[in-house]
Amino acid sequence: MSDQNPVFIPGPTNIPEVLRRACDLPTIDHRSAAFADIFVPARQAAQAVMKCETGQVVIFPATGTGAWEASISNTLSPGDRVLAARHGMFSHRWIDMCQRFGLDVEVVNETWGNPLPVAEFSRILTADTDHRIRAVLATHNETATGVTSDIAALRTALDAAGHPALLMVDGVSSIGSMDFRMEEWGVDLAVTGSQKGFMLPPGLAIVGISQKALGHIDQARLPRTFFDFRDMLNSHAAGGYPYTPPVGLLNGLACSGRMLLDEGLEAVFVRHRHIANGVRAAVDAWGLSLCAREPASRSDTVTAIMAPAGFDATAVVSRAADTYGMAFGAGLGDVAGKVFRIGHLGSLSEPMMLSGIATIEMVMADLGYPIMLGSGVAAAQRVYSRPAQRAAAA
Ligand SMILES: *Cc1c(COP(=O)(O)O)cnc(C)c1O
Repeated sequence: MSDQNPVFIPGPTNIPEVLRRACDLPTIDHRSAAFADIFVPARQAAQAVMKCETGQVVIFPATGTGAWEASISNTLSPGDRVLAARHGMFSHRWIDMCQRFGLDVEVVNETWGNPLPVAEFSRILTADTDHRIRAVLATHNETATGVTSDIAALRTALDAAGHPALLMVDGVSSIGSMDFRMEEWGVDLAVTGSQKGFMLPPGLAIVGISQKALGHIDQARLPRTFFDFRDMLNSHAAGGYPYTPPVGLLNGLACSGRMLLDEGLEAVFVRHRHIANGVRAAVDAWGLSLCAREPASRSDTVTAIMAPAGFDATAVVSRAADTYGMAFGAGLGDVAGKVFRIGHLGSLSEPMMLSGIATIEMVMADLGYPIMLGSGVAAAQRVYSRPAQRAAAA
């Protein structure tokens, strides 16, 4: 694997040089005012990016999975019923975690490639008149299939049913890259990690907690110590941690949060949409199809591409790594061997994306795929080129 090439895995994402430097700090006493000067702005930036206006953000030394565990263990009790859809590897893993916690998971199995079935959730929530369901789990962006679900519609369904369940949303591959509105969508627990939209190394689990979810903490009986929200909230209020925090990563978060907010969240989302449109145009030109079935649910951060019948999609990923030193995502779970994935989130420009598309073309040609070299690159160039600017410069 070349360390000169960008990566096109859907996380960890490319780390801008300025963020690598921000993470590289000498030892700073984490009980000093100097630490609070790093941590307080980092936490504020994370809160702004999540649009967690009236809630609280806690940041654990962990990954997205730890953020899930913290969300579940701080708000639920053994035997509590939760509603979740299984439609990709990440939603599957979230269900598995709930089951290991002894929760009673009502699983809706949906075809991988489809979004969370809001209509089915709506029916189940409406029928649950004695409100046995304590939480609804949603994966905003299924990184395994390249499918985005409609969280606003899910909130509408909860409200229409008059259902008080907590809404827990995995935003690991959407927050900081795609439109995400914790407050407006009434999300009670929003989780992400540092290594995707925030463009940092892995190591931070970031959780947004609504006022309503804060009200559930004392009644929740699942065990937690390292992940206890109460210890974190007490220490965070004083600008610190109950244990030793990863100071360098938090300095990186302060810096990356500022980068995202300076670019403007709306501009960040548009950039991701635009880069994704180029990738989708390339896939079209190759005559291949997406794992995502509905155009409206196609992800702007990761594209999962179906290999033609008779081809092993995993070979694309290994060939790209071994021959061209470039990383792409393999298929996971039910779609292993059937899809390969192009991650396009975080620090990415159009020319970087063209290099990824061009490399995938060489790989597919090497493997005997029926594609023409340059066809996808040209299609993406047509999306990315700016004729108006060209004319103005002439
Ligand atoms: C990457 C990812 C995770 C897992 O996060 P870790 O940081 O590896 O624990 C969870 N959910 C989604 C949607 C992801 O993309």
